[in-house]
Amino acid sequence: MNVGVVIAAAGSGRRMGSAGNKVLLPLDGKPILAYSLQLFAAFDVVSEIIVVTREMDLEVVDQLIDALGLGSIARTIPGGKERQESVYLGLEALREDTEWVIIHDGARPYVTRELVEKALQDCYTYKAVTLGVPVTDTIKVVEDGIVAETLERSTLWSIQTPQIFSFSLIKHAHQKAKQSGFSATDDCMLLEKLGVPVHVTQGSYGNIKITTPEDLPLEENGVTTMIGLGFDVHRLVPDRELILCGVRIPYEKGLLGHSDGDAATHAVMDALLGAAALGDIGEMFPDSDPQYKDIWSILLLRQVMDEISKKGLVVSNLDLTIMAERPKLSPWKDQMRNNLAEVLGVAKNKINIKATTVEGLGFVGREEGMAAQAVVSLRKDLNASNCHPS
Ligand code: MG
Repeated sequence: MNVGVVIAAAGSGRRMGSAGNKVLLPLDGKPILAYSLQLFAAFDVVSEIIVVTREMDLEVVDQLIDALGLGSIARTIPGGKERQESVYLGLEALREDTEWVIIHDGARPYVTRELVEKALQDCYTYKAVTLGVPVTDTIKVVEDGIVAETLERSTLWSIQTPQIFSFSLIKHAHQKAKQSGFSATDDCMLLEKLGVPVHVTQGSYGNIKITTPEDLPLEENGVTTMIGLGFDVHRLVPDRELILCGVRIPYEKGLLGHSDGDAATHAVMDALLGAAALGDIGEMFPDSDPQYKDIWSILLLRQVMDEISKKGLVVSNLDLTIMAERPKLSPWKDQMRNNLAEVLGVAKNKINIKATTVEGLGFVGREEGMAAQAVVSLRKDLNASNCHPS
């Protein structure tokens, strides 16, 4: 057997929001392209690997091939304008005596040796094979935003690579397509056009094509969870309204403060600022500043969230504990969660509020004051405009 491989790696990665070639982005410590290079090079039957890439990436891909110690089996060539042209150039670059060719997308790093072996075996029988999986979504034809038709799902397959062919067959199909100006979205389609049957070998749902940042593990997106902790105490005094998380709670005393004294919201704000490394609320809203006198703290929380958004961060979840001997807070918790969910821009089920007494101990137990403690986690907003130029 004499098997050649063509790896299509000339995509620009526009949907990745990266100016560079997406197959060169790191995945668990090495470029995405390295996975398929190493996989195919490890097959005894594979004699040659052609990586078709952009002119500007030739040097760095050559360096990668050297670094992987694959200089004797793999080499690069510059691609064409479209994928089809790039693959054709790759086929042209293979040795004349090539019998079978594996065509693979460089952006599919998760293909396994087992899948390739299975497809190769099938190809020796069928001459033309693609990996694919049955679709799990319902697929509809949509015209001008209106559903025109629902397709019969049981006959629909999502097609992957590698696609493996008899070398002379696929080369012939490419030449025919080139002559007639026929353009296809994958190589099988060129054979379908000629009426040649293409066998589908069941692939795996894990063999995804890296297309958007969400396809990469979180840490490759630079996404880490940022945790913040907030704590606040306010004194309880008569003739003040009791306000917690923006909810007016009927009680004989209220929390004293330059603002509305909402210790719970203050703890949440400090947790947010802490997670984003933005200091604390004392720095952001000095209580010497008259504009914050008696201000509704929920409004300050909105300003904090504006700063969080500017850093491209969103809230993952919040957990808040309010320490108060009296009154009973459970009837108000639902309304508090609504307020926080709205301002924090998350679903209500990501907000948890707990209220506790302190068994009559200390300043809270003596009803001299209330305390609140919050923990929040933030993450990078993948929907931010820098990731998805729509
Ligand atoms: Mg405070």
